Amino acid sequence: MSDMAALIERGKNVLVGNYARVPIVMARGEGALLWDANGKRYIDLFAGFGGAILGHCHPALIEAATQQAKKLWHVGNTFYTEPQIEVAQRLNKTAFTGQAFFCHSGLEANEAAVKLSRLRGRASNPKRWKAITLAKSFHGRSLAMISATGNPKIKAGFDPEVPGFKHVEIGDIKALEAAIEPETAAIMMEPVQGEGGVNLLSPEYAAQVRDLCDRHGITLIFDEVWTGCGRTGRWFAHQHFRRANGSIVEPDIMTLGKAVGGGLPVGVMFAKTELAKLLVPSTHGSTLGGNAICMAASRTVFDVVERENLLNNAASLGEWAISRLQNDPKLAPKITNVRGRGLMIGIELKDPPEKIVEKGLDRGVVLNLTASKVIRLAPPINISRDLWEQGLDAVVATLTA
Ligand code: PLP
Repeated sequence: MSDMAALIERGKNVLVGNYARVPIVMARGEGALLWDANGKRYIDLFAGFGGAILGHCHPALIEAATQQAKKLWHVGNTFYTEPQIEVAQRLNKTAFTGQAFFCHSGLEANEAAVKLSRLRGRASNPKRWKAITLAKSFHGRSLAMISATGNPKIKAGFDPEVPGFKHVEIGDIKALEAAIEPETAAIMMEPVQGEGGVNLLSPEYAAQVRDLCDRHGITLIFDEVWTGCGRTGRWFAHQHFRRANGSIVEPDIMTLGKAVGGGLPVGVMFAKTELAKLLVPSTHGSTLGGNAICMAASRTVFDVVERENLLNNAASLGEWAISRLQNDPKLAPKITNVRGRGLMIGIELKDPPEKIVEKGLDRGVVLNLTASKVIRLAPPINISRDLWEQGLDAVVATLTA
């Protein structure tokens, strides 16, 4: 048995089988490239579910985490630490004026957001605590977030649901308005649905949702766990949405995960200041949230995206790729649609494919399949044009073989 096969056997015995793992041990990464334990090279077009937004082992991230590791790891949130404050300041600079709560994952950020919406709701009406989310949404795997999630598969076997979540179809503003009750405290949605199949909110719909929330005093939460930190070619995907007067359609709360830690566990609930002030001491917390090493890495993610002009890279490589895939004559008979924003791209196939992730890996490319027939591509946003082209060629070869 090879070393890799032996390691997998050991892993199978001791790791919970909740992930659809492929029989590969990844051993090393550099930029948008990965090598397995046998030395085979892969172009990473999925960046660890979006977390490795700057690719693997970015020198600036290594330096930031290493320097911080030599100074201070963890003291707890009884104290202020500089890296936390600096990440929050970068959010103020790149998103909107607000205050940050730090945790470790997207789902925790969403939990904090829903809790905050309940505090706000109850300030006006003691019975105001419910939330509306979208069909096909994904908001995480806690009991509350699988209830918030609009995909029955995610909830199966875990009932009863946490009460108070209702789902409506994406893009249907009338259905959303009809779903609002006096008890509705929050509306939560992803600007681009990730797990649901790379489904884009239209700017018009987003603006209508904002208006609806304003009219009813409802807290609008944008779950930017997938879309944050440059993935879509803007700092945050809601910045693609404009009202008729040109102003950005801002949420009251934005949640982040994945990319914001550059591959280390960071989640953020970032709320408009007036709203954030409702979370007074002892209402919410996290022991290791805002851990200094994670924050030092997160601060560096913002700095590198800015310094290396990566919003433009994501926007231009994404636009080019969508057009390249849409116009590929070999691919045309296999697909119904190619869509995306920046470097978050979905290729919808006519039929659910067989073992497509494994076939991609055979050709040296990491891709993802979601919503049964949508190939999802989300490479590091600093991928070079050359590797991106090579990767897309391998994807097309895999899909048309
Ligand atoms: N929200 C969205 C939009 C996600 O795509 C995910 C994970 O894929 C989550 C929340 C949950 O994030 P985490 O896995 O970090 O808890």
